[in-house]
Amino acid sequence: MTAIANQINALQEELPRGVTIVAVTKYSDVSDIQKAYDAGMRDFGENRVQDLEEKRVKLPDDIRWHMIGHVQTNKIKYFTNYIYMVQGVDRCKVLKELNKQAAKDDVVVRCTLQVHIAKEDSKFGLNESECMSLCKEIDNGVFPNVECVGLMGMATNTNDHSVVKREFEGLKTLFDDVAAKYPHWKWDTLSMGMSGDYKIAVECGSTMVRVGSKIFKPQS
Ligand SMILES: *Cc1c(COP(=O)(O)O)cnc(C)c1O
Repeated sequence: MTAIANQINALQEELPRGVTIVAVTKYSDVSDIQKAYDAGMRDFGENRVQDLEEKRVKLPDDIRWHMIGHVQTNKIKYFTNYIYMVQGVDRCKVLKELNKQAAKDDVVVRCTLQVHIAKEDSKFGLNESECMSLCKEIDNGVFPNVECVGLMGMATNTNDHSVVKREFEGLKTLFDDVAAKYPHWKWDTLSMGMSGDYKIAVECGSTMVRVGSKIFKPQS
C-alpha cells in the first residue's frame, strides 16, 4: 500500500462516520492525487482556479471538486459548470457572481459560507452579522442558482487548543442558529478542521474536514 493510502485509511478509521474528508491537493501533483483516488478518496479541494483546471482534466471525472480558496470573481465562470462545492463564499460579491454564472450554465452551485473566526486578519470570511444578512437574502430567493448548505471556517494557527476550540464552538453555534432559523433549508455541512486541528474540529461538531499535508506530506 502507498504511504498516501495508509494515511487515508488511518484518517478514515479515526474519524466518526458521517465526517467527509476533503483531500486538499494544492501542494500535490496529479500522480499523488491519483493515488488518493485509488485509495477511495472522491472529494478533493483546490484553492487556485488555474491549478484546478490543469489537474482535473488529467484525473477521473467522478471526482467531486471543492473550490476552497479565496476566489477572484472574474475566475468564477471557469468552474461553475463542474464544481461540486464552493467553500467558502467569503463576501457577498462572490455569491452574486456565482449565482450569475451558474444561471448562465443552467446549474445550481452548492456552497458554504465562510465565516471569519480566526484572530489573523489575513484569513478571509464574513462576520456573523454579514453571514446572517446573507442568509436572509438567500431565504428571500435572491440567489436561485446557488444552494447554500452550510458554513466553513478556519481557526487561528496556534498551539493553544483552547483558542481553536473556542473558535470552532463559535462556528458550530452559528451553524445551529441558522439551522433553527431556516428549518426548511438543506443545511448539513459544517466544514472545519485541517491537518493540524481536525481532531478538535470534529469534537466541536465538524461534518467535513479539509486535510492536505497529513495525507500528502505525512513526514512533515
Ligand atoms: C491548505 C488548506 C487546507 C489544508 O491544509 P493542511 O494544513 O495542509 O491540511 C484546508 N483548507 C484550506 C482553505 C486550505 O487553504
